[in-house]
Amino acid sequence: MKPGFHHKLLNGYFEDPCLFIRIPREKRAILFDSGDINRLGQADIYKITDVFVTHTHIDHFIGFDTLLRATLRRDTPLNIYGPTDILSCVAGKLKGYTWNLISEYPSVINVFSWNSKTLLHTIFKAENGFRKETVSRTKSGGVLLKDPMFKVIAAYLDHNIPCLAYSIEEEFHINIDKDILNRKGLAVGPWLSSFKKILREGPGADRTLNIEGKTYRLDQLNDIARITKGQKISYATDIAMTEKNISRLIELVKDSHIFYCESYFLEKDRERALERFHLTARTCGLIARKAGVKTLNLMHFSPKYRDCPESVVKEAMEEFNS
Ligand SMILES: [Zn+2]
Ligand SMILES: [Zn+2]
Repeated sequence: MKPGFHHKLLNGYFEDPCLFIRIPREKRAILFDSGDINRLGQADIYKITDVFVTHTHIDHFIGFDTLLRATLRRDTPLNIYGPTDILSCVAGKLKGYTWNLISEYPSVINVFSWNSKTLLHTIFKAENGFRKETVSRTKSGGVLLKDPMFKVIAAYLDHNIPCLAYSIEEEFHINIDKDILNRKGLAVGPWLSSFKKILREGPGADRTLNIEGKTYRLDQLNDIARITKGQKISYATDIAMTEKNISRLIELVKDSHIFYCESYFLEKDRERALERFHLTARTCGLIARKAGVKTLNLMHFSPKYRDCPESVVKEAMEEFNS
């Protein structure tokens, strides 16, 4: 199975954390955090439709202007997600320019701000000079984006200000084994969509299917389907080391294939980590191990370890692999 997502960090350990995820099937990309994004080419920036911002400290949000400029003449809306603050920060950025010549531009910016209970949708359109318009307020337990192919879930964490961590999860795949289909004397047809729908709905759905006038029980067809788990990628940064944060984060990133996580301080500087509301490398490794992630990727190190990044990597990985 081809992976649905191609993912890469844009910057090094001591630069802004920023994860670029390309969805090749949809010729579209998403971004986790938008600090310095200047390593992306214009064509890649142009593909970005959704940006999930953890919080609006400058190292996580300064790239917004670059994105805005690159997508100003685009038909596809730019969707920005984040904690409550994101709304006033986007509005403030837009207020920083004069917009008297853009009424013909198609640009639309949707802002989705989540306060752990409700998701507020606000829209800014170029045709109205980016005036703020409230669209809706809906209840949300954390699924911020539900697409037919994937969903993005957030956890509400604390960094002395609200800070969100994210997981992107591909829905599971159902592959039909054509050889078995042939052996059963069944032809490919619209019934396969109904069959996949029943499988997706799980127990409780009607478990019989009519194929060319004949009724089949689901267990007579089970062997034609091969179900594979979708890819799960998680991203977390700038998190205070509280029990609540740690348990919420473990729950969010559970069984991720890839986990991108800050590793800001060494355990010997634990006091400093507590003062600055960041994780230590060891705590990062512990979260990844307890969540059963397959691969841990580190990012966002304090500049104080500029001469010894390997000691940060060692501490996190020893804990992860212990
Ligand atoms: Zn940061
Ligand atoms: Zn921060």
